[in-house]
Amino acid sequence: MSPRAKMSDAEREAARAARREAELAAAREAARKKATEDQPPYLSGTDDEPSAAVQRKLPGKAKVRADAIRDAQEHLAAQRARTKPVFWWLVARDYTPETFRWRTEWDCGCIHEVLTERKDRLPTELQWLDPVVPARLPYGQFLCCKATTAGESPYRKIVGWAEVPHKVRTFPPDPPEPQHGLDPESWAKVRRTEEHTVAYWMVRLECGHAASVPARPGWRPADGHVRKDEEERQKTVAYWRDYVAYVEAEGKCSEWDRHHLARAEDGCPEPDVATDCRSCAAVSTMIAYEPIGLLLPPAPKSKAAPPKPSREEAERALRRKLKLAEDEAARLRAELDGLA
Ligand SMILES: [Zn+2]
Ligand SMILES: [Zn+2]
Repeated sequence: MSPRAKMSDAEREAARAARREAELAAAREAARKKATEDQPPYLSGTDDEPSAAVQRKLPGKAKVRADAIRDAQEHLAAQRARTKPVFWWLVARDYTPETFRWRTEWDCGCIHEVLTERKDRLPTELQWLDPVVPARLPYGQFLCCKATTAGESPYRKIVGWAEVPHKVRTFPPDPPEPQHGLDPESWAKVRRTEEHTVAYWMVRLECGHAASVPARPGWRPADGHVRKDEEERQKTVAYWRDYVAYVEAEGKCSEWDRHHLARAEDGCPEPDVATDCRSCAAVSTMIAYEPIGLLLPPAPKSKAAPPKPSREEAERALRRKLKLAEDEAARLRAELDGLA
């Protein structure tokens, strides 16, 4: 008989459970590794300044606990619906008896309740995701109400490049009909008559946000930026100066116009050394926070029944009682004898 055949049902079930647990642990570890590798250091936000928000009493009142619990559970369910279970440990962890509630105030005027794992983890240590790119936002920033009313995006210098492009796309030739509101003559000058390929790179900007910028296929950050020669540079600068003077006189000069003049002055670097940051225009910044308390109510204290004594203990206790009663009887008898 093989040792395997000697295994009881319980042992087999335990072995199966252990195997399942090991598989799950391996899947979790692989997901953790992938999540770390997918986030190059320039996007991780680990070198960001901590949020400067301060603790103080905020106007208004906290939600009642039942509403806070319901909102928290709805949020968790929505996160889980969007994420694969192997990532839940990262983005959709269960609430625990230590989960702590805070009220936070933002520079847009909004007040939001947020949760941290524990009381000693402040809301200033939280990082939210920037759905535009996607990457983590710097500490204490969040896409709040401004996100829908964002105005022009400011241009920011690129301070770091990813190691490889995140996307390469091939575009068909441009149509012969003029596009982007151009007249036929201008369109004929800029129109691409052959299909062309663009590589897109994730970059980190001076503001701490991430963005995606185009480059020619095959380019690497170590290649540096190609610029126009001095004669060409001066021609381009003259063109953009005239253009900017014209739109300024019309009162409609945009960030885009100003960026193109600055870019021409820099010799039109390829790829560009700056890009517009949509996150800067859309994020709100946390200015203050206030502790509320634990999310979940404390577990009710159970009135545990005292443990049942063993047979021996019960017998000993009864004997002790009997001995006391017998001693008392002997004493009373002696007292009676004394009266007689
Ligand atoms: Zn807001
Ligand atoms: Zn920015």
